[in-house]
Amino acid sequence: MIKKKTVKDVDVNGKRVLVRVDFNVPLDKATGAITDDIRIRAALPTIQYLSEQGARVILCSHMGRPKGEVVEALRLDPVAERLSELLGAPVRKMDQVIGPEVLVVVEAMRPGDVLLLENLRFEPGETKNDPDFAKALASLADVYVNDAFGAAHRAHASTEGVAHFLPAVAGFLMEKELDTLSGLLEEPKRPFIAVLGGNKVSDKLGVIGRFLDICDEILTGGGMCFTLMKAQGLAIGKSLNEEDQLPQVRSFLDKSIEKGTALRVPEDVVVAASFAEDAEHQVVEAGEMPEGWMGLDIGPLTIEAYRASLLDAGTVFWNGPMGVFEWEAFAAGTRGVAEAIVESHAVSVSGGGDTSAALKKFGLENKFTHVSTGGGASMEFLEGADLPGVSALLNK
Ligand code: ADP
Ligand code: MG
Repeated sequence: MIKKKTVKDVDVNGKRVLVRVDFNVPLDKATGAITDDIRIRAALPTIQYLSEQGARVILCSHMGRPKGEVVEALRLDPVAERLSELLGAPVRKMDQVIGPEVLVVVEAMRPGDVLLLENLRFEPGETKNDPDFAKALASLADVYVNDAFGAAHRAHASTEGVAHFLPAVAGFLMEKELDTLSGLLEEPKRPFIAVLGGNKVSDKLGVIGRFLDICDEILTGGGMCFTLMKAQGLAIGKSLNEEDQLPQVRSFLDKSIEKGTALRVPEDVVVAASFAEDAEHQVVEAGEMPEGWMGLDIGPLTIEAYRASLLDAGTVFWNGPMGVFEWEAFAAGTRGVAEAIVESHAVSVSGGGDTSAALKKFGLENKFTHVSTGGGASMEFLEGADLPGVSALLNK
């Protein structure tokens, strides 16, 4: 992995510094209040450092999917307010992303000031990576910093395009994400175990292939394991199944034998009569799944078996809950796996929005070595893809 220049490698004193952050925080639908500010907190070290170094800090982020139009509910005012509380300093918020009003305010900024631009995706040029829009963004600043690892797998104007016009370096969060994830690929402490769950096997195919190469063992659960079970000829009832992925999944089973990397599926499953929080449910052995029932969690034997493996792990990467953890009746698998990872002495890294929500729910988010702020970005990185937002940064 090529090391990237960071905020420490450039002189920012007195400079206007455009910082791409990931403030795509979840909002309460009824009140519009921020329900989880972890992404804002994660960007604080870079913002504080730049401000202390006397930079004029111009922050930009997307939120939601406004599709190139102004959507009132997706303005960044609540983000500016929370950021200001966390920084203990005022944060001015613009109602525009670019344009004359912004230029006037930027011109008047003093060293150390922090300004937040409006939601980048109000501009149609953002997701299209329009060079004119990228140039207009770049014209606000002297230096560009990307601290939005969660958006680095997208080639958008604020993550990629702008880097063509300004010296571009990584922020501290970006640096930490890249160091941690490349550590997994380079010299992981063994045994290296991947735990994969979540809802769709098609989202995880790229990483399964890669993990068969680099891991010692892959433990599967969640909705995605049923396509694997089906490929092994096991009955799966009405569980999630992606029939079109079966050929690919079968080739992974072959590769797992060839490589000697165990690709494990649950030994028992919690099945429910319907997809509902209060559905009738029971534990059955894998292969004994009754017709018409669906698997919504891994069973107690599987939790014990996975736990035994995880307690001996040197490194664990986890993406995807083991069951529908949002519902108590189907949360035991996800909780059991999370607890085993925390109890082990392994280097533990998680990726994925729902996986970190689960860790938070169980109060374990601070017990992991690293909880990645990127879902898609961390998976693509581990697959070995070049992330456009990373490639665009200057090499050390
Ligand atoms: P992440 O966001 O961590 O990458 P995913 O988005 O892939 O994870 O999957 C998370 C979702 O998968 C959760 O909302 C969970 O309820 C759902 N899920 C887990 N197990 C099952 C299952 N057996 N059947 C259906 N959905 C499941
Ligand atoms: Mg998800």
